[in-house]
Amino acid sequence: TNDNLQGYAPICLEYEDFYMRRAYHRVQDCFARPIASAPDAWVDVLEINWKYQEKVLDRTTKSRRCLNLGSYNYLGFGSFDEYCTPRVIESLKKFSASTCSSRVDAGTTSVHVELEECVAKYVGKHSAIVFGMGYATNSFIIPVLIGKGGLIISDSLNHSSIINGARGSGANIRIFQHNTPSHLEKILREEIAKRQTKTHKPWTKIIVIVEGIYSMEGEICKLPEIVSICKKYKAYVYLDEAHSIGAIGGTGRGVCELLGVDTADVDIMMGTFSKSFGSCGGYIAGSKELIQYLKHHCPSHLYATSISTPSAQQIISAIQVILGDDGSNRGAQKLARIRENSNYFRTELRNMGFKVLGDEDSPVMPIMLYNPAKIPAFSRECLRENVAIAVVGFPATPLMLGRARICISASHSKPDLIKALEVISKVGDLTGIKYFPAAPEKQ
Ligand code: PMP
Repeated sequence: TNDNLQGYAPICLEYEDFYMRRAYHRVQDCFARPIASAPDAWVDVLEINWKYQEKVLDRTTKSRRCLNLGSYNYLGFGSFDEYCTPRVIESLKKFSASTCSSRVDAGTTSVHVELEECVAKYVGKHSAIVFGMGYATNSFIIPVLIGKGGLIISDSLNHSSIINGARGSGANIRIFQHNTPSHLEKILREEIAKRQTKTHKPWTKIIVIVEGIYSMEGEICKLPEIVSICKKYKAYVYLDEAHSIGAIGGTGRGVCELLGVDTADVDIMMGTFSKSFGSCGGYIAGSKELIQYLKHHCPSHLYATSISTPSAQQIISAIQVILGDDGSNRGAQKLARIRENSNYFRTELRNMGFKVLGDEDSPVMPIMLYNPAKIPAFSRECLRENVAIAVVGFPATPLMLGRARICISASHSKPDLIKALEVISKVGDLTGIKYFPAAPEKQ
């Protein structure tokens, strides 16, 4: 269980046996490695070396320039941008790094107002509300939308922030099989039938929660089918677009644009600014009434310091670039690039014999490692070859479904991707994670 895992660290650190301590640090080494530059296509990673001398634990660090396959820098806004960065600096000079106040007190600047209008227009809804953290957006909004007497039906692989919000709401929770509309329909039918008796009141409301691109799987939501089932059973649709907004669709407007779903059919559109827009924070977009309601009831709008003004400015500027409002076609080029890079990289990895999850166009590309012991080994060997990759294991995935989660960026060049493929192939052979025969070389 989670508790057992957390209990493991202090036990090892107190352990007299240095070999045990060393093993612990080798396992830990692949997580939370500090980086010493912007999360661009290449990044400076601080390598930590643990030394055990005379029973004393010592730590030295060395910077290593690595190809970055770990950050969610989908459109390349995570580093200097000729249009965004000067505007962010201007905003920092004018407004400072923090608003030092909640939105309802003195924490709403003209930039916050502009951001909410810009986001609503971009995602295709009447209004929007923004928050300082994507995780907290789900965790605090879901309990405001639904409570006791309501029913949440959540995809089995939804993000931790959604699980947190759902549990905190006090509503009943049912889980449907990952991205399986037929199972969602079965649950809806069952739950509605259960409540059509004299002894049970009907559910006050039903909210179905899904993600645009699943963060650990790279799969794109079967939104058209899910929306039509929700319409049939009068359930609300809550869509988390953390990984899809800005990254997919002709103008980066996410999964609705990609799959041709009318945004009017998605009641609550949630997303984060920490991926495609190179900033931080989250948003909810919806009808005028919904957003008004949230502005009066959401504790993080009322009591938490608002998103910093330079971060808000970064998001506005990034959206302007995406839509070509900066007067260039860089936005369209970035969108074409991420699509091309993602499809090229996934196909090449599969041809090499790796088990790679995810759908076409998705920049999230998990390579299955399965065995938990391979997680630190894979990460360390890639780092040795100057490739930084995020690895994920229990409790973020089931114990035997550990993986390396690659995030492709529009700022990766073709030579970058070729280098990454060479290194991953070599480390894949070393760690024994190629599970399928490699595709024959094209003549
Ligand atoms: N929702 C999903 C689906 C996510 O993957 C994440 C984080 N990766 C979040 C919400 C939280 O967003 P943030 O990191 O911006 O707080």
